[in-house]
Amino acid sequence: MAQNPIFLNEFEDNYRQRGLRNQLVKKLRLKGILDENVLAAIAKVPRHVFFDGALLSHAYEDKAFPIGEGQTISQPYTVAFQTEKLRLKAGDKVLEVGTGSGYQAAVLLAMGAKVYTIEYNQKLYEKTKALLPKLGYRPFFLHGDGSKGVPAKAPFDRIIVTAGAPVVPEALTAQLAEGGIMIIPVGDQEKQKMLRITKKNGKLLKEEFDNFAFVPLLGVHGWK
Ligand code: SAM
Repeated sequence: MAQNPIFLNEFEDNYRQRGLRNQLVKKLRLKGILDENVLAAIAKVPRHVFFDGALLSHAYEDKAFPIGEGQTISQPYTVAFQTEKLRLKAGDKVLEVGTGSGYQAAVLLAMGAKVYTIEYNQKLYEKTKALLPKLGYRPFFLHGDGSKGVPAKAPFDRIIVTAGAPVVPEALTAQLAEGGIMIIPVGDQEKQKMLRITKKNGKLLKEEFDNFAFVPLLGVHGWK
């Protein structure tokens, strides 16, 4: 079988891949990502490992790509933007809704968070649960409807929703700790506004950022 000209095998991480990651980090800086901890995590996590063979050479482009089951690995800028807006601290307990490929979870873990990640699609859940620990990343994997959150593990210091929601699910804001922050794209199925919800003295403060285009959040509090 012909070998990919850049990547010799999927787990190899040599100076070529590290160089491509550093170039990606430079692009993200130019696009306005300033948090050095986020940039260091992007520089550390081998994104190519989350790609299937045919797409491997595209791993360090600033683009979303298919991961099977009609789902995508988010664009690195989107991952960086959401992570920066989370104002994450090492040790924070984070719920990620939409495990997908596991790349975002790996970035959160690389920043020292304790991560619970929930995926609705059974095949992706199984695939990612098998892959991430091989790379040394060990979140708590859950399978189910993350639009309801994970009440048994609440409260969370941070919640990151990586699929587009029609509304902010109350089930999720209820699971935010006092002082907690949630980042969630909300809108229609074509485009969504990135929202940051902060819980302060029991009240919810809402900030709005740019538009993004995510696959839909499914489930009871998502697109049915
Ligand atoms: N964070 C992912 C990554 O790093 O690859 C990208 C996520 S992809 C854009 C969105 C994911 O959300 C898909 O894997 C999809 O199956 C999942 N999803 C959609 N609705 C969900 C729900 N209600 N609960 C959990 N996962 C959901």
